[in-house]
Amino acid sequence: MQKIFSNKYTNQKDIVEKNFFNLVSDFSKHNQKEIETTSIAIVQNAIDYKIGSQFGKLIHEFSLSSNEGIVLMCLAEALLRIPDAKTINDLIEDKIPIGDWKKYIKNDKDLFVNISSIAFLLTGKIVEEKENEHKNILGKIVKNLSEPLLRNAIKQAVNILAKQFVFEKDIEKAIKFSDEKKHEKYTFSFDMLGEAAVTYEDSERYYKQYENAILTTGQSKNPEKKSISIKLSSLHPRYERNKLDLLKKELYPKVFKLVELGRQNKVDICFDAEEADRLNLSLFIFKEIIESNLIDETYSGFGFAVQAYQKRAFFVLEWLNQYLESKNKKINIRLVKGAYWDTEIKIAQEQGFNDYPVFTKKFVTDISYLACAHKLLENNNVYSQFATHNAHSIAYIKTLFKHKDFEFQKLHGMGDEIYSHLEKEDGFKCRVYAPVGGYQDLLPYLVRRLLENGANTSFIHQLKSKNSDIKKLIQSPLDKIEKLNFDKIKKPADIYEDRKNSSGLDLSEEDIINQLKFENNFSGNAFSIIDGQDIKTSNENNIISPFDLTILGKKYYAEEQTVDIAIKKLKENSNTWKKVPIEKKIEIFLNFANLIEENINHIIQICAKESGKSIKNSIAEIREAIDFCRYYSKEANIIFKEKILKGPTGEMNKYKIIGKGLSLVISPWNFPIAIFVGQTVAALITGNVVLTKPAEQSSFAAYYLIKLLLKAGLPKEAIALVLGDGALIANKVIQDKKLKNVIFTGSLDTAKIIQSNLQKKENIPTFIAETGGLNCMIVDSSALPEHVVKDVVSSGFDSAGQRCSACRILCVEENIYEKIKDILIGAMKTQNMGDPEKLSTDIGPVIDADAQANINDHIKKFTKFFQNENISSNGYFVPPTLIEIEKLSDLKNEIFGPVVHITKYKASELEKLIDEINDLGFGLTLGIHSRIDKTVNLIVSKVEVGNIYINRNMIGAVVGVQPFGGYEKSGTGPKAGGPEYLKRLCYEQSISNNTAAMGGNASLLSEVED
Ligand SMILES: Cc1cc2nc3c(=O)[nH]c(=O)nc-3n(C[C@H](O)[C@H](O)[C@H](O)COP(=O)(O)OP(=O)(O)OC[C@H]3O[C@@H](n4cnc5c(N)ncnc54)[C@H](O)[C@@H]3O)c2cc1C
Repeated sequence: MQKIFSNKYTNQKDIVEKNFFNLVSDFSKHNQKEIETTSIAIVQNAIDYKIGSQFGKLIHEFSLSSNEGIVLMCLAEALLRIPDAKTINDLIEDKIPIGDWKKYIKNDKDLFVNISSIAFLLTGKIVEEKENEHKNILGKIVKNLSEPLLRNAIKQAVNILAKQFVFEKDIEKAIKFSDEKKHEKYTFSFDMLGEAAVTYEDSERYYKQYENAILTTGQSKNPEKKSISIKLSSLHPRYERNKLDLLKKELYPKVFKLVELGRQNKVDICFDAEEADRLNLSLFIFKEIIESNLIDETYSGFGFAVQAYQKRAFFVLEWLNQYLESKNKKINIRLVKGAYWDTEIKIAQEQGFNDYPVFTKKFVTDISYLACAHKLLENNNVYSQFATHNAHSIAYIKTLFKHKDFEFQKLHGMGDEIYSHLEKEDGFKCRVYAPVGGYQDLLPYLVRRLLENGANTSFIHQLKSKNSDIKKLIQSPLDKIEKLNFDKIKKPADIYEDRKNSSGLDLSEEDIINQLKFENNFSGNAFSIIDGQDIKTSNENNIISPFDLTILGKKYYAEEQTVDIAIKKLKENSNTWKKVPIEKKIEIFLNFANLIEENINHIIQICAKESGKSIKNSIAEIREAIDFCRYYSKEANIIFKEKILKGPTGEMNKYKIIGKGLSLVISPWNFPIAIFVGQTVAALITGNVVLTKPAEQSSFAAYYLIKLLLKAGLPKEAIALVLGDGALIANKVIQDKKLKNVIFTGSLDTAKIIQSNLQKKENIPTFIAETGGLNCMIVDSSALPEHVVKDVVSSGFDSAGQRCSACRILCVEENIYEKIKDILIGAMKTQNMGDPEKLSTDIGPVIDADAQANINDHIKKFTKFFQNENISSNGYFVPPTLIEIEKLSDLKNEIFGPVVHITKYKASELEKLIDEINDLGFGLTLGIHSRIDKTVNLIVSKVEVGNIYINRNMIGAVVGVQPFGGYEKSGTGPKAGGPEYLKRLCYEQSISNNTAAMGGNASLLSEVED
């Protein structure tokens, strides 16, 4: 079992060469003729197929690489769920004129027919292109048509589209329909439409649907011809590896009950395959089912889907062979290629995983599918179900399984032309995956299908493309084997051309979870460090865990003379550090990044213990620190290159930048690693000597990091870590005449004090301040509520809301206000507070008693609020809280905790809302959830904030990718992790040398021709 948990990132080439190649090529060689003949027959039949699946037509007419295809996807995804006329109009107007729709229009007289036919027009009468028709005729029609008529026509069109892919609206109708004579050659697997549950209410509703579906199917005419597909993520709102214990309590009993119902009613059940990080979870549940008595010789109808694009599919099946044999149990396996490829690639890049859990070449997925089929063939305890629409895959399987019982599976509304050829053969077995539900629930499903089958690499797309070439269509994936060594998709570590991406930890992996070992008796002391020496003072304080108030160790705060010594030492050594070549400096900070990476476990524990950060948040911030080191190293390498500037002859003009000297860094407790490292490294790499003062609450993290930095090779004279009271230390340093830079992240009030102290000085040191924000998220009614809620939960409550970027005010269009509020309250109930060192903890404590009291005082001022239950703990916990407010101006200051305020606005008053956001006077982050480009563009053009996030959460800015920082009361800029940051910390210098002064312009004289 362990082996299958550790194959997620195996090298693609290794898997192909060691496991797949011989297996598939031997069989292909011996059966080439038969596979080829079958493939040709399938493809030829599909090309000649008269009726054609509606899906095929859709793909044929609206390629996803065309504007029309994209518009179609946008409309299909959003239109049916929008409740208000204005937003529907805006969406239609926004999307329709983009496409060159004229080619789908027969004439512009019959409006309804036109719009219907354009839209997706799956009535089987899609029309030929006509020459000389008006360009963009639909755009004109849209303008001239009365709005209600247009809305209805387009809604109708999207409904027509939906109808092609929903089998029936409810299970009763679905059963009746599947029993009709025209379907007699097929069996069915009913898929109860719906996405992953976001709330417990959702999961209960889905559970009831599955229960009803099994019971109703069991009582139908031929229950053995029908089965039910189950998405486990719809049965629990937290179907995640970190919630395993909770799932055992809350999800397992439900799943067992459904399997038991299946057994009692003789209905087959299949778990759909979902994202790669859920494979282990489904295997855990699967094992529990096998070990129980749910499955015996009377019932072998239970099964699950395996995705061949996952690198470990083959190994899962290999393990399954022995496992089922040893348990003497029989199950079904549906072999698919996999439907979430784009998502898997994105997640692995974002999270900095070692590699991808899926293959990165389409032909490797195809070979894997065949290799997996060989594994299934060996297994006498498995009934194999092959879900594919690819002619070559089908022909191969058909040949391989000639002497064994098995079935094919296809999606309702797709693949009709592919299977119509095989339909005629004796013994043909094919199950239709039949989505059952309302059209509204269909849309996310439909979009996934469109993406997966409309992509250029997809078989269905190629079959339907206008110049489909039979030879190419039936080509064996082995023919492309020489391309194995060339990969367009770079490994997650290499996605940035000029620097390494920081590595993350995949917390869905058992090996990684097992390696995440924390010390039982964590303790340590923190000191200031001057000239490489720990400074023990008499100002001794406890390091206290905000989680349970245990004393972790002692921290020794600096006394006045400690600060004086630190300043003196730094000034004495300023020139020495300045003169260290930039290459050497870069080497030190890259070493530092590597050391942080090597010590990630220990640093996670420091974050969790000292700052109450969850494991997930700690990893993210450690990665950010590493990214800062690498990004600033790369930037420094660029900006520190001396430039020769062109000018008149006889002159040498140079431009260079140089470090300034003494710099003060004041960093906050909420990002004790990332911001501390980012600011300190930026100041150092630009040649400045640095007095770095971390927040008192995160003294230990800072002490540990400076030790690492010295170990990485930083000369001890270049840095002083000074722990203790901010006012005392900052005031002393600011008074020093040689102070050149102050880099500060913290509260607005403190920033203003520093600013006014700096103003009293004779010289004008550079002041970079990053402060907070009253950050808003604007949600219009075209947004997907479940998606919005997920993003609000992470943006508002993650890190107990202690991020400057956090969402503080959620502004929702009035028509979806109640819906979003209800789902959000439901989702908040799925968040748990607890020990930050536990993987299952979502939200840790706030930083200290003062913070807790301030946040609670704020909440008490309101009457309309929802709050999660508090935990019984002596730690500094504040439960996630949602407060209803009338208007934005009800809030004046940032509330630095897990508190989101919610308010409604009218669609017609969006501009007024933007003005109100600007009037708040902060300008840090803004979230937008809308499917309408016009709305997004309007907001982006008017709002005055530094970081805007569209249709995603609004936290977690990535260094060098989303440079971070705001305006007005939110900070001075330049943006941290952006291209302007380092330059602000340096002097520029121009050197102009009259080279003709000594000996005349000899070079000019010798260069000219005679
Ligand atoms: C009845 C049925 C049930 C299904 N159930 C599930 C399910 O439970 N879970 C699920 O995830 N999917 C499921 N699918 C979808 C399935 O995974 C495929 O996405 C879909 O069938 C297309 O595969 P194909 O063999 O028909 O097409 P093909 O076009 O031959 O193959 C498409 C496959 O190649 C992959 N691919 C594309 N580009 C690359 C690349 N560069 N590198 C590597 N791979 C690439 C795609 O992601 C996709 O998996 C089901 C499909 C059917 C027919």
